[in-house]
Amino acid sequence: MKALVAVKRVVDYNVKVRVKADESGVELANVKMSINPFCEIAVEEAVRLKEKGVVSEIIVVTVGPKEAQEQLRSAMALGADRAILVESSDAVRPLEIAKILKSIAEAEDAQVILLGKQAIDDDNNQTGQMLAALMGVGQGTFASEVVVDGGKMNVTREVDGGLQTVELKLPAIVTTDLRLNEPRYAALPNIMKARKKPLEMKAPSDFGVDAASKIQVTKVSPPPERSEGVTVGSVDELIDKLKNEAKVLG
Ligand code: AMP
Repeated sequence: MKALVAVKRVVDYNVKVRVKADESGVELANVKMSINPFCEIAVEEAVRLKEKGVVSEIIVVTVGPKEAQEQLRSAMALGADRAILVESSDAVRPLEIAKILKSIAEAEDAQVILLGKQAIDDDNNQTGQMLAALMGVGQGTFASEVVVDGGKMNVTREVDGGLQTVELKLPAIVTTDLRLNEPRYAALPNIMKARKKPLEMKAPSDFGVDAASKIQVTKVSPPPERSEGVTVGSVDELIDKLKNEAKVLG
């Protein structure tokens, strides 16, 4: 059976994000870009399913600019077999991405469809849920364990106060949480091999999707600067400040 993994190109999580001076968005020029960390966990999980003999082929998909080929090559270096880049310079929103993923999942007859629980740039946490709704299939979100057995998949989910296990009929959607696995590093020979793996170029219009956003970002602003702390000389001084300056004590 085939696994489809959706990966997004985002600003690397180690980069301190800077807002553009005109507050129109985040500065992307000369910034290191990577696979969204939750998507990397999704790729790793697919590779582990392939290593267990559950999955026979892994297809990675991204919707993004031409440069997102880099992230698809990285995913193939981790073990994906082939890639599809749906090229768009627009900031494509989750619903449109979900529509594109639905077309691809159905055309490929993918049985296990893995996404990150959220993309760390826009923090939507929507795409997997929308995809499950559009396809009319089950979803296991915030997965910390995935077991595929026959035509079923058991997904253990991280919920408030513990773990919940759901059984899903295939095809089904999984969105990955941080504890699902620890992605491997790509070995050099695999990075070289990934250069030769197939990468297909598509456009949103090939799937009948208009990528132009129906949502306009009106302003992006950095979080307020934290004011400097003070060192107090005594407990009495601290209590006095809490009462009279911070006014958090009566
Ligand atoms: P979001 O709903 O935007 O927080 O993203 C959740 C997950 O949906 C990501 O971790 C990806 O697996 C997938 N996804 C979001 N945006 C894209 C994109 N542009 N291309 C491919 N997959 C995406």
